[in-house]
Amino acid sequence: MGRLTGIAASSGISIAPAYLLVEPDLSFETVTDREPSEEIARLDKALQQAQAEIEQIRETAAKSIGEEEAQVFDAHLLVLADPEMMDQVKDIITNEKVNAEHALKQVSDMFITMFESMEDNPYMQERAADIRDVSDRVMAALLAIRLPSPVGINEQVIVVANDLTPSDTAQLNKEFVRAFVTDIGGRTSHSAIMARSLEIPAIVGTESITQEIKDGQMMIVDALEGVVIIDPSDEEIAEYKEKAKAYEAQRAEWAKLVDAPSVTKDGKEVEIAANIGTPQDAEGAVENGADGVGLYRTEFLYMDSPDFPTEDEQYESYKEVLEKMDGKGVVVRTMDIGGDKFLPYLPLPEEMNPFLGYRAIRISLAEPKMFKTQLRALLRSSVHGDLRIMFPMIATLNEYRKAKAILDEVHKELVDEGHKVSDDYQVGIMIEIPAAAVNAKQFAKEVDFFSIGTNDLIQYTMAADRMNEKVSYLYQPYNPAILSLIKNVIDASHAEGKWTGMCGEMGGDQMAIPLLIGMGLDEFSMSASSVLESRSLISKLDSKEMEALADKAINECGTVEEVMELVEKAVAELD
Ligand code: PEP
Ligand code: MG
Repeated sequence: MGRLTGIAASSGISIAPAYLLVEPDLSFETVTDREPSEEIARLDKALQQAQAEIEQIRETAAKSIGEEEAQVFDAHLLVLADPEMMDQVKDIITNEKVNAEHALKQVSDMFITMFESMEDNPYMQERAADIRDVSDRVMAALLAIRLPSPVGINEQVIVVANDLTPSDTAQLNKEFVRAFVTDIGGRTSHSAIMARSLEIPAIVGTESITQEIKDGQMMIVDALEGVVIIDPSDEEIAEYKEKAKAYEAQRAEWAKLVDAPSVTKDGKEVEIAANIGTPQDAEGAVENGADGVGLYRTEFLYMDSPDFPTEDEQYESYKEVLEKMDGKGVVVRTMDIGGDKFLPYLPLPEEMNPFLGYRAIRISLAEPKMFKTQLRALLRSSVHGDLRIMFPMIATLNEYRKAKAILDEVHKELVDEGHKVSDDYQVGIMIEIPAAAVNAKQFAKEVDFFSIGTNDLIQYTMAADRMNEKVSYLYQPYNPAILSLIKNVIDASHAEGKWTGMCGEMGGDQMAIPLLIGMGLDEFSMSASSVLESRSLISKLDSKEMEALADKAINECGTVEEVMELVEKAVAELD
């Protein structure tokens, strides 16, 4: 029995065996004087097992992530079936009387080195990766080690990993993966954000879960409190089953608000929107009664594609979201690659600080062809709903002006070509860099709206990496400095008759919402699963009382603890 704590990143409670998604140790001893026929038989058996595994993974992947993505496994099957490589392995076994592991390693290393040396040929580079994957699988079969694979999961488990990349997370099949727990990461790392949109309970930043648990061991994940229990007792299992039931009952209460307006106790209307990563996520937004989409992170469209998505492919996705939202506002953010999100087909320079580097609008402005393709697709989709285009990571007014000029140029081009483009789409920016938050007054004169990206705004203001659990204590949404910046942005927008939303995780944070209502935030955008809970909370808040609360927090509190105490007291008094 063991207990571990981490950061609750996506709500829920799950009880299931652990599935360790860690790099296995495939080291082996070289043995000579082996009987070749026996080693060849072992190799053949391992090859058959590898083939069966790849076929099964391919089938599961096609169902869970799509036929196109599953095709990578066809390439793996081809490597396995290619006699050239395996015949060489068998020759070495016969001539040198070594064990199959040694022969396999020798031949696969040779092929990998050969393909990798063809540096300017991406096709050959991919072949090297395929050979590495396949030979690892055969090696694991020889060593009787199970090779973990997120797409191959086909029973109820809790995935345990050091970290999950956004693409690992995208491959998790919600039907079988009951939760995930990682060593590293924070509430705003992209795997955590994706867990919320997939509605998979998650705890991140436990520091040592992969060391503490064995594959297949039973575990409880309480992602309401951020607690993991390893090898629980029967009493603990019973206790947590009860807790899970109570949580479900609470969710059923919130579900009654699905068609209700988002309004405070004293009648002030706000918008509660959803953050989405794919057009399918728009269904979750509708099911949870969101008033719109406050952030569509379009980079996932790029990440899911083997090459830059074409204008038509992008147009179809944007149109799909606008149509699913049926006239409700949809904020589409232009691509935000960089930081922790990469494209295999867009090589970026190695950087010391990727979150401070070449990212988002900085790439878009430097790659006008790519940027224009996205803007063309967006403007063409504008006739299908209430489109709001948003530029990420804007630091200076000049960046905004450049992006807006390109947008206007693209608009004119489309009209000249005879395309229909709406005349009343909005254009706004994310406020996630402190310079823009401080200078909001100037931006407010030129943009239609702001959306505050607190995930980045907090990391840049506090100089605390959002991915680093060692400094997560500095990741303080309720720090008076952050609150002051937010207030400045909202006031600046209102002074110019514009609106401000918040699409960072703070927008769905139940402790922050009373303060944000008090500061006059117009739109709250969050994971779809938080919409109803937030609507319930907002309906209990009086906007005037919250205004006084926010003023007090900003002007009288010196520390985050003082702010929290103030909010906790106010929330406890609600009926
Ligand atoms: C943010 O920074 O708050 C935000 C919403 O953008 P992302 O999390 O995608 O960086
Ligand atoms: Mg951001």
